[in-house]
Amino acid sequence: MQPTAGHEAGGAGRSGDAALPAVVPSPGVPLEVPPLTRLDVHVFRAPIDTPVRTSFGTMTDRPAVLVRIEDEDGCHGWGEIWCNFPTCGAEHRGRLAASVLAPRLLGRAFPSPVDAFAALERETRVLALQTREYGPIAQAIAGVDVALWDLVARRAGQPLWQCLGAGGAQPRVPVYASGINPDGAVESVARAREAGYSAFKIKIGFDPDADRAVIERLAAAMGPGEGFMVDANQAWTPAQARRLLPALAEAGAGWLEEPMPADTPVDAWRALAGDSPVPLAGGENLATEAQFIDAADGGWLQVIQPDLCKWGGVSRCVPVARYVLGAGRRYCPHYLGGGIGLIASGHALAAVGGDGLLEVDVNANPLRETLAQPFPRVADGGMALSTVPGLGVEPDLDAAGSWCTLRLSQAVTDRSW
Ligand SMILES: [Mg+2]
Repeated sequence: MQPTAGHEAGGAGRSGDAALPAVVPSPGVPLEVPPLTRLDVHVFRAPIDTPVRTSFGTMTDRPAVLVRIEDEDGCHGWGEIWCNFPTCGAEHRGRLAASVLAPRLLGRAFPSPVDAFAALERETRVLALQTREYGPIAQAIAGVDVALWDLVARRAGQPLWQCLGAGGAQPRVPVYASGINPDGAVESVARAREAGYSAFKIKIGFDPDADRAVIERLAAAMGPGEGFMVDANQAWTPAQARRLLPALAEAGAGWLEEPMPADTPVDAWRALAGDSPVPLAGGENLATEAQFIDAADGGWLQVIQPDLCKWGGVSRCVPVARYVLGAGRRYCPHYLGGGIGLIASGHALAAVGGDGLLEVDVNANPLRETLAQPFPRVADGGMALSTVPGLGVEPDLDAAGSWCTLRLSQAVTDRSW
């Protein structure tokens, strides 16, 4: 997990070196992206009454950056760009998509979204080096990639999960309730249980005694067939992490997520994993295929959690996820944002399969359901995905209008291709 020179190159440098299978669509599914004619960015911030606390910061409003891409035939697709922390960065990411990526997309056709991803990565590589904005640029590319996959799936007349190779009539992905604050955790779990969840993830990494206490309370609150996981959000040193392991093992925690900073040397990860009776999880802060491959092959992460709106989109995260399963690890997509990225993560999980769970933030966030209508229902620990072509959802822009902070449009004026 330690950053390398390749990591510093922002994904563009190392990703081409990694040997991963390409995204395999269902046979006969056309993936061509026709000439693109329009790109719109919508940035939202919804106020919330209860801030979301993590060990590294507090979220006082909920942001979301959506990108809509349209082709010459008037078909469109929606994507979402990760922007959670700090929330002041949401508008910046929207501007990057409109000013840096739109000129590289409009008027161009691509053999597939994978080719568009590769072109954007290649063409922004030097800019990322120059600005050191590896993260925001990678996130903007990831959001555009999701929009292009929604577009090609809609054009193909297939739901994205089917387009990506999943069989069956209508997949139902297992879910867990996430983002639960330690304050009032048992009450939050009770509400999530009422809402159809049977697995729950709680944020720890604050005061060690308080962490231990909440872990014990949660263990006592679990009913038959229920389980919980914990997320330290990179809070600890290896020694601090070790001190919590007995309590987590005693409580039967399903996994311990990001106990240490993602750039902690690999030897320390390997040693902690070797000592831990609880599986270690991580991946939302990895940003090259090589890092995911190392983590999966090395085995210090048993649960691997790429965030497809933060790095890689569908084009890179689906191959990573298939590699993860092939290496005998669990793929559990990370997600904490608006509805488009959540639904896209569900389609990726349905396509890849395995025994992973979809992360569904259960904190108040009106952008989750308003920006993805009709929002799939959660029941009995799972979410049934739509059979409508593409992601199967549309944002309700009118209902979200009061939360919109920025809207940008770029369109081609010369259609002489
Ligand atoms: Mg996490």
